[in-house]
Amino acid sequence: QTQLNIEQRYHLESNLVDALKNGELSLNYQPFFCLKNNKVIGAEALLRWNNPILGNVPPDQFINLAERNGQINEIGNFVLHTAIAQAAKWFVIQPQNFRIAINISPVQFRNSSFAEHIENLLSLYNLPASALEIEITEGILLQDEHVAQHTIKKLQQFGVRVSLDDFGTGYSSLSYLQKYSFNTLKIDRCFITNIEKNEQDRELSKAIIAIGKKLDMHVIAEGVETQAQDDFIKSEECDYGQGYLYGKPVTAGLFEKSYLS
Ligand code: C2E
Ligand code: CA
Ligand code: CA
Repeated sequence: QTQLNIEQRYHLESNLVDALKNGELSLNYQPFFCLKNNKVIGAEALLRWNNPILGNVPPDQFINLAERNGQINEIGNFVLHTAIAQAAKWFVIQPQNFRIAINISPVQFRNSSFAEHIENLLSLYNLPASALEIEITEGILLQDEHVAQHTIKKLQQFGVRVSLDDFGTGYSSLSYLQKYSFNTLKIDRCFITNIEKNEQDRELSKAIIAIGKKLDMHVIAEGVETQAQDDFIKSEECDYGQGYLYGKPVTAGLFEKSYLS
């Protein structure tokens, strides 16, 4: 994550205020694949901000600003509405094995009616709960343990999957696996990136895949860029893969053309 100085932050923040109403925000979709049959089984929605002056601003630079000034609720809602509406259309084209993965900020997740909100959106757009996966990070679990536990359970009760993103980068990750029941574990990109050069990362990736399997979770490797990385995760029987090797994040139109027809 790039560190911005106070002036840059101020500049971004003042432009971000109007980004949504000026139509500067949009979503890209990156495919993820089943490694057994190499089929697309879903898409992760990734937020994009294109500002006439600033150009393309990466989410790593503006999401934490939006979290601090509260705008993330509005922006997060835009993401939920857009991605769920889009997924409902794609689900019609590919009803078997298609799901949309949506990143949720801890700020959104903290809201005690988050699970109901999701339930309402699913019925509004007519998307089956099984076609939605909510991606959260450890940051969520560091807050109010009971609220988080309750929300995760509720989501799973109506059939929404919950995945733990960036796994392996935070701390005390293993105790979270015991406390919460995730459907999917996403191995952080940094492990995958170093698989070829770093023996330790290779061993850790193996261990994470094994832990996921033991605990009945699906494991997805993200940031797969090379054939050697693909070979490795396949030999370890990792379930799913995502990364530039398989497909970069693209617009909805391009996603549909490339992967769903
Ligand atoms: P993330 O959830 O870990 O998303 C994966 C990031 O890795 C994306 O960056 C994606 O473009 C990038 N990526 C995918 N495959 C590869 C690869 O093979 N190599 C490399 N080098 N990168 C790859 P992006 O789109 O810049 O998003 C960065 C982060 O911003 C995301 O990390 C997520 O934490 C956050 N984010 C994005 N969209 C949203 C959103 O709608 N809501 C929230 N709360 N956070 C979001
Ligand atoms: Ca993610
Ligand atoms: Ca991630």
